[in-house]
Amino acid sequence: MPAAESDVVATWAWLDAERAGVVARGLVRTLDPGDDGLLDLASNDYLGLSRHPDVVAAAVDAAWRYGTGSTGSRLVTGTTPLHLELDRALAARTGAESALVFSSGYLANLGALTVLGGPDVLLVSDADNHASLVDGCRLSRSPVVVVPHRDVAAVEAALAAHPGRAVVVTDAVFSVDGTLAPLAELHAAARRAGAVLLVDEAHALGVLGPGGAGACAALGLAGEPDVVRTVTLSKSLGSQGGAVLGPALLRDHLVDTARAFVFDTGLAPTSVAAALAALALVDDDRVAALADVGRRLADRLGVAPTPGAGLQDPVGDPGRAVAAQRACRDAGVRVGCFRPPSVPAGGSCLRVTARADLTAGEVERAGRAVEQALARV
Ligand code: PMP
Repeated sequence: MPAAESDVVATWAWLDAERAGVVARGLVRTLDPGDDGLLDLASNDYLGLSRHPDVVAAAVDAAWRYGTGSTGSRLVTGTTPLHLELDRALAARTGAESALVFSSGYLANLGALTVLGGPDVLLVSDADNHASLVDGCRLSRSPVVVVPHRDVAAVEAALAAHPGRAVVVTDAVFSVDGTLAPLAELHAAARRAGAVLLVDEAHALGVLGPGGAGACAALGLAGEPDVVRTVTLSKSLGSQGGAVLGPALLRDHLVDTARAFVFDTGLAPTSVAAALAALALVDDDRVAALADVGRRLADRLGVAPTPGAGLQDPVGDPGRAVAAQRACRDAGVRVGCFRPPSVPAGGSCLRVTARADLTAGEVERAGRAVEQALARV
């Protein structure tokens, strides 16, 4: 930018200084095209369904039938018969009374929290919750108590200190460290306080539970009247979009009042059709295959296995983590890299994602690439 411009516009002078800080902290991000022939251990396509012929064919067919975009809010022109079918299919699969599809998991979380929260509703939120839950808490204008990670006693104390309406907010599987939330204990605490438990199953749908129904379903919590779940369609289902799962009464109120639903263009029919086709392919065999690859990959990398598909290989320094990621790429393997603010300072790591369709040879290739990359940086 010419010097004169940053002299005139105070914002650009500020941005110049901000950028210098980001560079100095080793936190510059790049947008690399994903489809580059590398062995993929970075995506969230946990079941390898985003390129499954049935899923692709369903998306293509929906584009011919309904067009490439949904053309409006779901309340206006953006609900096709496929949207309603997907609402029903998600509810049926996950054992929820009802489901409502949003155009992303991010917006599903904003919708759920803004409708359930409010200035007189306490939100009790795990410190490691996903950014979309954090933003939903903020947008709801609720008082928020952030409790230490997976700390049920802290949740109980927060609820006890606020006898009114409350929502306990947690990821099911945390993307930061791959751990599972203590869902049964959180549900018991919420139940005692008359609170709702809101669980983000983004990393659990298609990964845990019978037929991939998620972590709540695995624990028998799916039909509980005080449990609300959110999911994304962009991970194990290989599509795009998200949904809120819960009582029909809540669905009705989301349709009428959730700004993230009302004022957003409905999910593209192609994505809806892809998610429906993918959901039909999610079964116990695929879920078991993913778990098996996850165990073998963890073993090969010498890292702790996790209940979900994402494994963390700790590095610490963000610069080293990026260099290791680059070295993996040079070896033909794409892995993820978590740096602050996604993880706490000093917690940078490689994120290696299991996929149900990885072969034994690919697991070995990935393991070798990561091992050699970490030895080199
Ligand atoms: N919740 C969690 C836990 C996630 O990991 C993500 C995606 N990174 C989201 C919500 C947002 O979902 P989407 O990408 O569909 O907006």
